Amino acid sequence: MTTFAIRQYGDPVLRQVTKVIEEIDGRVAKLAEDMIETMYEAPGVGLAANQVGVQRRMFVYDVGDGPMVIVNPTIVESTGEWTYQEGCLSVPGLSWPIVRPGSVHLTGYDLDGNELSIEADEFVGRVFQHELDHLDGILLVERLDEDQRREAKAILRARALEPLTGDPDGLHTLGEDL
Ligand SMILES: [Zn+2]
Repeated sequence: MTTFAIRQYGDPVLRQVTKVIEEIDGRVAKLAEDMIETMYEAPGVGLAANQVGVQRRMFVYDVGDGPMVIVNPTIVESTGEWTYQEGCLSVPGLSWPIVRPGSVHLTGYDLDGNELSIEADEFVGRVFQHELDHLDGILLVERLDEDQRREAKAILRARALEPLTGDPDGLHTLGEDL
């Protein structure tokens, strides 16, 4: 198994909209396997293909029930509202309370090409929305309110000038990295 370097905030690959996977073959399965390994190593609970530099519509996640892979996901319906302290493996060490729909209905395919239809709320619903955003080239920073965003940009700008040093665990916050 191989692990990938996770692309970080500022990498243009994170701003690009990913392409539909036309054929679910062995290469896609291998990519999913390596993405799962990368997610566990990080550690995080979700990872989108473009976070490892692959411009395809697929994400992996594990919310405690084992690894799952969703190919060509779509959110067909979202309702309600839920606030969660959300972090991202591509923006490490930072998290913000972000309001998004509380429940979503996601469709897609598994690695055998079977159609999936999953209703998810709260945390799992949040993972789905976060990963879908990645596949559409959107980072969580863009989901912040005006004040949060101003603060985030200042931190990220300072960080770009002075790369992280020391113990990264010291920066870990309450939210899960997705
Ligand atoms: Zn993320």
